[in-house]
Amino acid sequence: MAKIIINQDKCKGCFLCVNFCPKGLIKKSVKLNKQGLNFVEFSPKAGDSTDCIGCMQCAVICPDCCSEVYK
Ligand code: SF4
Ligand code: SF4
Repeated sequence: MAKIIINQDKCKGCFLCVNFCPKGLIKKSVKLNKQGLNFVEFSPKAGDSTDCIGCMQCAVICPDCCSEVYK
């Protein structure tokens, strides 16, 4: 059971991680961060927090190192 933590104020909303997560667990937020940008949120499916496989694709692909993966 892995999870990620995203630094939302650092996120520039490029959505690379949204496209690269093989499980579709990262979603665009409707809210804005301190930079005035739509950040992304970790959104495990309701009732199934084991979906994240800890593959680290989201962390590797992020150009600003916003994501940390915890296994
Ligand atoms: S570690 Fe892998 S499965 Fe988990 S949120 Fe990141 S890309 Fe998705
Ligand atoms: S790849 Fe990084 S900067 Fe881009 S949306 Fe994801 S967390 Fe934000």
